[in-house]
Amino acid sequence: MKIKIYRRMTKAIVFLLSIYAIVNFAPNKYFMLIVLALILGTTLLFRTVFCGWICPMGTLFDLLRMLGKKIGDFSVMRKLNVSYKKWIKKNKKVLNKTDHYSRYFRYAFFLWILQSIFLGLASIKDKNEHGIMSVIYLLIGLIVLGLFIDRAWCKYLCPVGAFLGVISKLSHTGISRNKETCIQCNLCSKTCPMNIAVANREFVGDIDCQTCLKCVDACPVDNALYLKINFPLFQPNKLQKKDKEPTKKNI
Ligand code: SF4
Ligand code: SF4
Repeated sequence: MKIKIYRRMTKAIVFLLSIYAIVNFAPNKYFMLIVLALILGTTLLFRTVFCGWICPMGTLFDLLRMLGKKIGDFSVMRKLNVSYKKWIKKNKKVLNKTDHYSRYFRYAFFLWILQSIFLGLASIKDKNEHGIMSVIYLLIGLIVLGLFIDRAWCKYLCPVGAFLGVISKLSHTGISRNKETCIQCNLCSKTCPMNIAVANREFVGDIDCQTCLKCVDACPVDNALYLKINFPLFQPNKLQKKDKEPTKKNI
C-alpha cells in the first residue's frame, strides 16, 4: 500500500477525533502534559512528523487546498487558473524570496497570539466588536490563503510548527536521496508542499520538513529517495535498502 493511504487514514482518524474532543472533552493538565511529551518525543525522533501526519490544522489546510484545486478546474475558472499559473511562473524568483522570508512571520505570529490571549480573546469574551471583527478578517484571510497555497498555515503562521521546527534540529532522521539511482526528474521537489528542493539535496534536514513522505511517494525510482532513520539508541536504518538495483515503481 502506498504511504499516502496510511497518511490519509491517520489524518482522517485524528481529524474526526479532534472534532469529537472539541465538542465533548475537557482535557485536564495531565492529559495535556502527556500529549505535549508525545509531540516533543516524536519530533526528536522523526522531525515535525506531528505536522505532516497528525495536526488537524494541517489536515484542514490540505482539504482547503484540494478545494482550491477543484475550483480551479471548473470551466469558468480555468482561464483565471491558467493566468494565475503563468503569473507564478513569471514571478518565481520574487515569490521564492517572499516565501522564504514570510516563514519568519510564524515567530512574530507566536508573539501576536500571546498578546491576543491577553487582549484580543478577552475582547471577544466581552463581545467587543473590534475583537470579533479582527478574528473574522483573520479567518477569511486564512481560508483564501489556504485555497491558493499548499500548507499556507504551516509555512507562514503556525507557531506550533515554528517551535517544533526548532526542536527538530536535534533530530538526525531525514529524507535521503541516492544520487546513484536518482534520474533527476524533479518530481520530489514539485510534490513537496513545503517547497523544499529535494532533488538538489542528498539529505533533507530542513526545519520545515514535516516527514510527510509525499516526496518518497512521488519518486518513480525505487531506492532513490527514502526515509533515513538515525537516532541515538539504534543503528542507522533505512526504510528501503540502498543496495537493491533501481527499478521503476508501478505508478
Ligand atoms: S521534503 Fe518530503 S517529507 Fe519533507 S516536507 Fe517535503 S515532501 Fe514532505
Ligand atoms: S523524484 Fe526521485 S528520481 Fe526524481 S529527482 Fe527526486 S529523488 Fe530523483
